[in-house]
Amino acid sequence: MEALNMSKIGMTTMLLSAFLLVTSGCSHDNHSMVKEPITEKDKPVQTERSNTSSIEGTTGANQNPVVPATVMKPNEIPVLVNKENILPDNYKPSDLVYPDVRFTFTEKIEKRMMRKEAAAALELLFQAADEQGVPLAGVSAYRSQKTQTSLFNHYVEKDGLEAALLYSATPGTSEHQTGLAIDVTSSDGSCAAEDCFGETDQAQWLIDNAPTYGFIIRYEEGKESITGYKYEPWHLRYVGKKLAQELTDRGITLEEYYQASLAAK
Ligand SMILES: [Zn+2]
Repeated sequence: MEALNMSKIGMTTMLLSAFLLVTSGCSHDNHSMVKEPITEKDKPVQTERSNTSSIEGTTGANQNPVVPATVMKPNEIPVLVNKENILPDNYKPSDLVYPDVRFTFTEKIEKRMMRKEAAAALELLFQAADEQGVPLAGVSAYRSQKTQTSLFNHYVEKDGLEAALLYSATPGTSEHQTGLAIDVTSSDGSCAAEDCFGETDQAQWLIDNAPTYGFIIRYEEGKESITGYKYEPWHLRYVGKKLAQELTDRGITLEEYYQASLAAK
């Protein structure tokens, strides 16, 4: 049994190694997972790892296999969720609502929802964008673990496990599952979750104004090695006005903010 367990751990590490490559955080609903990674359930700090890497000398966010830690306070607005900090299995926020903003579709479906506080802030953000001539539209907000899992299974069937792991994130590691993230685009729907959005007036407006409403551009240009994701000018994450302004003023990512907090302890 011991040998079998070790073999499983080795396999998990290999799979995680693939997960930690820089991938798209949004990728048109690409978030999902194979199986729940090995985690400990009782870590006191959400940014602590449940285990050290089995590969010696590894550090950093996007190249080295580490076993994700389970996020202990998933309902906190500033929660850090990434490839190393995974939500509790099947986590679902209890206060999801439909923000009263324009989307690229009309159906009242899951991906239109956000947590109440984030939804209210989003309405103000969209209103300001409208007033300043850079109208926005929502593309995809909340995404359940169930949705991610079925999507991932679809990709595995289509392209095989190895390939799917390269373009799809593990379940529980997507910010969209927190109900605090949303992909947006211009109101005409063009460049939805595509690089060309970065060239639009809307993208520049968001860089300049999103923090005023409590949102950050979560996966910034030049920060790929820290966030583990390529630049996504369309992926907004609500963290609250105070923290959004602080991160912007200091020019740091949410990862760097938490690393600094840990170092100070
Ligand atoms: Zn996204």
